[in-house]
Amino acid sequence: MSQTSAINLFDLDRDALVAFLVEQGEKPFRAKQIMKWLYQRNVRDLNAMTDVSKATRNKLLECTTTVLPGVQESQLSRDGTAKWLFELHDGNCIETVYIPESDRGTLCVSSQVGCALDCSFCSTGRQGFNRNLSVSEIIGQVWLATNLLAQEPATANQRITNIVMMGMGEPLLNYRQLVPSLNLMMDDLAYGLSKRRVTVSTSGVIPAMDKLTSDVDISLAVSLHAPNDELRDELVPINKKYPISELMGACWRYVEGEEAASQRKKHVLFEYVMLSGVNDQAQHAHELAELLRGFPGKVNLIPFNPFPQSGYRRSSRNAVERFAKILNDAGVLTLKRTTRGDDIDAACGQLAGDIDDRSKRHVKFIEPRFGEQIR
Ligand code: SAH
Ligand code: SF4
Repeated sequence: MSQTSAINLFDLDRDALVAFLVEQGEKPFRAKQIMKWLYQRNVRDLNAMTDVSKATRNKLLECTTTVLPGVQESQLSRDGTAKWLFELHDGNCIETVYIPESDRGTLCVSSQVGCALDCSFCSTGRQGFNRNLSVSEIIGQVWLATNLLAQEPATANQRITNIVMMGMGEPLLNYRQLVPSLNLMMDDLAYGLSKRRVTVSTSGVIPAMDKLTSDVDISLAVSLHAPNDELRDELVPINKKYPISELMGACWRYVEGEEAASQRKKHVLFEYVMLSGVNDQAQHAHELAELLRGFPGKVNLIPFNPFPQSGYRRSSRNAVERFAKILNDAGVLTLKRTTRGDDIDAACGQLAGDIDDRSKRHVKFIEPRFGEQIR
């Protein structure tokens, strides 16, 4: 079979791999063996999968690949934050960030090259949309990060304990590839992370939110950024299609869904990027407190990460403190992200990557951006 029509094993979650192997006349248990090699032993050379029979290996060598993105650039911050630029087969690049903390290590994963949603404060949105990532390009970020951390003496002890879909792109607009990727993140034969440790962040694509929460059990983060439609229309243009009242309806359905009733209490993490003079005033905090009153969630106040010609400034510490106090006094829990990895310009949510422009590749890291801690 030619290289182009070969199946990439990293594109298949467990069910798809079993189906593929059965189609090839193989026994379903081969899926278990192969997944353990791929994800737990970090081995992607089929020849090295010694408990798989030679005949099976030869057959798979004919019709499958285990191709992953290439490592274009690795950067390690003084505080342990790591950022990688991965090159895709078509020359596009994506960024992935690892943020170590005392009790966890969070990997911030990209879902698309660019983003079509054009939020006014987001540099990914500014670059426009190029294409969706495949499953192998999404889960490949986890595979590569695991290996790159292990290879570097300074990070050899670091583990990925949490994954947030907060890199480039809107994950819910790449639904078909997102769900198998999440399955692999949580599958015991792959990365085995609990649903508390896998978070999908969305700007509020409501139909996909409803579908996701019924298809796969994960943690949900919603990029709110404004307490009323007038302001949110400006900052997060998809709000014109899915306004705040409908978004809150979807959030309520998520926390009150059938599964939620029987299992642990669900909550939503609301992301709110603090833009000086734009959405950080006392009146916005009061409005937000009113909107979220009684809702099982927390608000994450994110420092704005500046980029050239953004037109926005990061809110002052005082403004953030005042905002948090108003919310806390009204009974709304807040988290404040701290800046991380600022010496390597690492930041989730405002990654630029590269779109089809090989000439720009070596100037990727000169923009002043700041990493942040994810709670
Ligand atoms: N598209 C999804 C997930 C990727 S963005 C979403 O919007 O939720 C991840 C987070 O980073 C979002 O909350 C996003 O609003 C935030 N973000 C985007 N640009 C940012 C910037 N310049 N500074 C700080 N946070 C930003
Ligand atoms: Fe896309 Fe999220 Fe950036 Fe908005 S904030 S443009 S949805 S990546």
